[in-house]
Amino acid sequence: MSVTSRSAIREPDFVISGQAYWLDRTEPYRRLDGQMTQLDVFMTHCAQCGERFEVKRSAGGISALNRRCAKHRRPGIKVSPRG
Ligand SMILES: [Zn+2]
Repeated sequence: MSVTSRSAIREPDFVISGQAYWLDRTEPYRRLDGQMTQLDVFMTHCAQCGERFEVKRSAGGISALNRRCAKHRRPGIKVSPRG
């Protein structure tokens, strides 16, 4: 039995309201108070057009993740559930 594996596709690291996020990398980040921390950089797909884009999250800031690419970002307007 042959199985086609696509290494580029893996399970998302987490899913929020049906939108999947893949952790791509982490970057060092200096906070305003001088403390070094790190940013998690996630790949996701725009809830509107499906285009892939990156979102960055500082530790503990999960609620701030964008769900749309820069073209379709609408602060304060919720994404309606898929389906
Ligand atoms: Zn978009």
